[in-house]
Amino acid sequence: MSSYIHDTISYLKQSSPAQTEFYQAAEEVLSSLKPLLDRNPKYQKHNIIQRIVEPERQILFRVAWVDDRGNVQVNKGYRIQFNSALGPYKGGLRFHPNVNAGIIKFLGFEQIFKNSLTGLPIGGAKGGSNFDPKGKSDNEIMRFCQSFMTELFRHVGDTIDVPAGDIGVGGREIGYLYGQYKRLTGHYEGVLTGKGLNWGGSLVRTEATGYGAVYFAQNMLAERGDSMAGKVCAVSGSGNVSIYTIEKLYQVGAKAVTASDSNGMIYDERGIDLDLLKQVKEVDRARLSRYAEQRPGTVYTPVENYPTGRNGVWTVPCDAAFPSATQNEVNAEDAATLLKNGCKCISEGANMPSSAGAIDQFLAAGIAYGPAKAANAGGVATSQLEMSQNAAMLQWTFEEVDAKLKRIMENIYRTASETAKEFGQPGNLVLGANIAGFRKVADAMIDQGVV
Ligand code: NDP
Repeated sequence: MSSYIHDTISYLKQSSPAQTEFYQAAEEVLSSLKPLLDRNPKYQKHNIIQRIVEPERQILFRVAWVDDRGNVQVNKGYRIQFNSALGPYKGGLRFHPNVNAGIIKFLGFEQIFKNSLTGLPIGGAKGGSNFDPKGKSDNEIMRFCQSFMTELFRHVGDTIDVPAGDIGVGGREIGYLYGQYKRLTGHYEGVLTGKGLNWGGSLVRTEATGYGAVYFAQNMLAERGDSMAGKVCAVSGSGNVSIYTIEKLYQVGAKAVTASDSNGMIYDERGIDLDLLKQVKEVDRARLSRYAEQRPGTVYTPVENYPTGRNGVWTVPCDAAFPSATQNEVNAEDAATLLKNGCKCISEGANMPSSAGAIDQFLAAGIAYGPAKAANAGGVATSQLEMSQNAAMLQWTFEEVDAKLKRIMENIYRTASETAKEFGQPGNLVLGANIAGFRKVADAMIDQGVV
């Protein structure tokens, strides 16, 4: 390990203890940068590495709210404003019981380079809470969101910091957060993205991350003289990203045969029934086992029956895999199984879904591997298109936004691929995406002086 990586990770472990996921994300990015740093001493002269791993601002707050039985509940709230060299802070809010400072920090760190890669003027941030939306009534969700925004509103704004959704934060939550922001500030402005279509939202935002991950896969395969048509695909998760990945897979002539949630997975050899999946997840907000109950012939496997230490989804033979649930859901053994079963393409919808051991195997095998910060950037890119429409008080058509999304995904692919070639590692999109994302932010930081 090069000394700058070793020194930085040691410093982070000592200064920010117990943030495992953040060290993992930092090490992955830093490991890619060596060829760039060797060629350009200016980045070390300006101490960019030490500055970029330190968030510009971290806001940690109490979120107190009252449940339906009248009991007072307390959760932690976070907003980590990581880097604003390229534009206002931008990144989602995650509501999930396992949220902690290390998880929000890894997500915010990744967001810096992802946002840079989109070519759009947005900085990197992330936020959220250890609140668990599962099993809560609509009124409880509303009271929680209102309390969360009652602190957050003083730190965000349409040219300051523009949060969006992530795990556990969809259209309903964005609506409640927006309503409270408007009540507190009196401003009807684009402070959040993922808004409802009749009050400032953008067409295609809901679909963007999933559609983008499939566009990215198409670009990777096209350069190899292949296409998505006829591909059998394994998809994990059954939330926003997974559902619209599956929708786009059908549109491009591929077939998704799996989906999962935190309780288990479904395997439907005929292809996932998308209408039923949407009904179960988006309308009924039920567990995935209900899909299997309603569609005979589906194989449902609960998490307890997965092979020990493994994710059952990756045991299903497939041509392409779309991890779309959460971090570290593909470990080294999962990766080995995917490769053994002939998987030729991985496009990451989730953030950091693959462990370092899994990534090493994908790269060594030379398959088409699209790392998250490139492959799932369609979501934040379309959020920025929502900001543009809000600023211009316009609404573009579905076709216009989708065409822009497609072009952005192609540009991200080209940038990552050409940067990998420039640094002598053609096909290594991890290296290409990290160097290209970093270089733009680092150059802007140097231009803007020591701040
Ligand atoms: P949703 O909340 O809509 O869906 C999340 C899905 O993943 C659910 O099926 C959930 O199951 C499952 N899941 C979450 N945590 C775990 C876990 N610890 N173990 C097993 N399954 C889990 O979130 P999104 O679809 O929005 O986000 C999915 C991933 O995509 C995340 O990594 C997110 O950061 C990333 N992403 C999202 C973007 C967006 O635009 N929404 C943009 C870019 C990246 P259950 O319901 O049982 O919890």
